[in-house]
Amino acid sequence: MSQNIYQFIDVQRIDPRKKAIETRKIEFVEIYEPFTEKEVSAQADRCLDCGNPYCEWKCPVHNYIPQWLELANQGRIIEAVELSHQTNSLPEVCGRVCPQDRLCEGDCTLNDDFGAVTIGNVEKYITDKAFEMGWKPDMSHVEWTDKKVAVIGAGPAGLACADVLVRNGVKPVVFDRYPEIGGLLTFGIPSFKLEKDVMRHRQRVFTEMGVEFRLNTEVGKDIEMQTLVDDYDAVFLGVGTYQYMRAGLANEDAPGVFDALPFLVSNTYKVMDLDHAPDFIDMAGKRVVVLGGGDTAMDCVRTSIRQQAASVTCAYRRDEENMPGSRREVKNAREEGVNFMFNLQPLGIEVDDNGNVRGVTVVKTQLGAPDAAGRRRPEPIEGSEHILEADAVIMAFGFQPHAMEWLEPYDVALDERGRIQAPAKGEILYQTTNPRIFAGGDAVRGSDLVVTAIDEGRKAAEGIMDYLEV
Ligand code: FAD
Ligand code: SF4
Repeated sequence: MSQNIYQFIDVQRIDPRKKAIETRKIEFVEIYEPFTEKEVSAQADRCLDCGNPYCEWKCPVHNYIPQWLELANQGRIIEAVELSHQTNSLPEVCGRVCPQDRLCEGDCTLNDDFGAVTIGNVEKYITDKAFEMGWKPDMSHVEWTDKKVAVIGAGPAGLACADVLVRNGVKPVVFDRYPEIGGLLTFGIPSFKLEKDVMRHRQRVFTEMGVEFRLNTEVGKDIEMQTLVDDYDAVFLGVGTYQYMRAGLANEDAPGVFDALPFLVSNTYKVMDLDHAPDFIDMAGKRVVVLGGGDTAMDCVRTSIRQQAASVTCAYRRDEENMPGSRREVKNAREEGVNFMFNLQPLGIEVDDNGNVRGVTVVKTQLGAPDAAGRRRPEPIEGSEHILEADAVIMAFGFQPHAMEWLEPYDVALDERGRIQAPAKGEILYQTTNPRIFAGGDAVRGSDLVVTAIDEGRKAAEGIMDYLEV
């Protein structure tokens, strides 16, 4: 670190430059230019190396942030990447898609008065640079056991579980119904936030480490759960949450109304030029209304812009302050031409004489008393109903756990919301009510974040190793 303890005043926080708006809004590539070596060094040097680092405490995987900032400042990239992998299985992903403003950077000591250290972008730089230098995890010291674990789901939870297992000599075999790894990192989060090659590179790294992938393989359809229970010492469920939430609006099944995820997935198949693509959902030339205010809604509006929609409107029932989506992504969407309409609650989908969508009836809202979660409840303002005209409506109301008939015979208890019960505390972490079966990520906590899924996958691997006594 520099000897100048006031570096955080002399050097301002900078964010990476964004690509020109004209190209950015028609391309499915990441919008940020990478930091240069000099910028990384200067930005990392702003860190105060706090004795009690709030950034580290707030990070769900408790990354050793001040330590790897110091290594990055000194250009010791290989040591930095080794250290960051001690707590995180996918730092290059977290650096790109974590809501740092709500996590590490939000709690950085410098945040309020001087601008937080740009932790996320340094994290991304360290891993990208190390990969560029040919770095891969050193597996030479691993002592292999005779144990093998079936991991269902190649999302962040499943991958993190496989990462910790393989580093400890337990063979993970990862099953996923999709043709590529990543779960929602690939078939959800669009490539303008996370380019698809990032996960493809990770797949090569994991494969070289000894993780085996069986893709295009759906458990319960292409392979029986019983086969996994019989052939493996334990099973990890990292199956996510895939039941799309609806608002119960009139005509919500009309042609022209789409759920967010099939829209994003069809776009991914096209961007990646994958075989067996579902029907492409094309917003070109359409007036698009997206209902919802979370990260999924932001991904839908920005994908619609890139598909050259005639206009894109995001309608949300609370005010901007109370939007669940990342501030950074709302700003990006606005710059790209998305029109935001706040305090509007949808009442019904309007259709034309042929039954096709022609708009959404909405009512203006004002914020009332807080609900059980402490968020102020939107209350409709009588007489303010009107129609937002639209050729396509995308519902982005979130996800809840999906039914899994194939799991029913295995005594895996669910809670009242359908989430798999796998406690984060106790003697054996993330073990379900069937001792041989473990679970983590969205399927256990409800749809959340990449980094919390990684955290649970890693801890579940610890639980599995305790159970297997390895
Ligand atoms: P998933 O990522 O959903 O992975 C589950 C995997 O299991 C999938 O690949 C699925 O195919 C597979 N699977 C399920 N059932 C079976 C079966 N029977 N057989 C075989 N395979 C099966 N979080 C952030 O932190 N930042 C963001 O910017 C962000 N943006 C998001 C944008 C969108 C559009 C969405 C939907 C979510 C976003 N999230 C974001 C949330 C984040 O992606 C999830 O919390 C995270 O991916 C959950 O990880 P997981 O491993 O539990 O599940
Ligand atoms: Fe550095 Fe901010 Fe973390 Fe303190 S809170 S150690 S200044 S990154």
